[in-house]
Amino acid sequence: MLLHSYKITRTLPCLADPEKIRVIAEISDEIHEAFPYLNAILKGCIYNHPALTLTIKKDGKLFTLHAHHITLAKIEDEKEAEEILSWLRDLINETYEKRDQIEPNYSMAAELKALDIFKLLPGTNCKKCGELTCLAFAVKLVGRDTEIKRCDPLFSEKYQGKRNVLLEILQAAGYEVPMSGSLAD
Ligand code: SF4
Repeated sequence: MLLHSYKITRTLPCLADPEKIRVIAEISDEIHEAFPYLNAILKGCIYNHPALTLTIKKDGKLFTLHAHHITLAKIEDEKEAEEILSWLRDLINETYEKRDQIEPNYSMAAELKALDIFKLLPGTNCKKCGELTCLAFAVKLVGRDTEIKRCDPLFSEKYQGKRNVLLEILQAAGYEVPMSGSLAD
């Protein structure tokens, strides 16, 4: 067994959705050895091998696994957080036990899609970034042909929720993001 136990240590308001919470759980064991195997079997993961983080997207929620802790975003309450943590612990342990049968995947973010990015942009097509539409900007961003900081409106208070989720996704995928806008764990 790789992960024996976890404990919720912090519960914060979810910046992406004020009616939900963000949960941080400390874990009893280092789990990063399981990340390339989880990345191989789960769809839509974002694996940042140098930073030792794996972000799992499930039912519109984001779970980020770090070597020593786990963060959960857009969570209803602590009961739901406990259920997700229990699911994650079983998933991590079962996957790690079967690692001899799984080819590890060390690729970073092949699944990062322009449409997922587009949904988190302001969507006003204001052209301030130099692109004709937000979708065109999203396509360039995924291809690393532009930078998120060029979307000036995103950094206004109005888009704080979208911005924090987007920066978290980009950061997990190894993209450069402005430090002042990133979520603190
Ligand atoms: S600056 Fe942002 S909101 Fe305006 S078009 Fe570009 S991506 Fe869309």
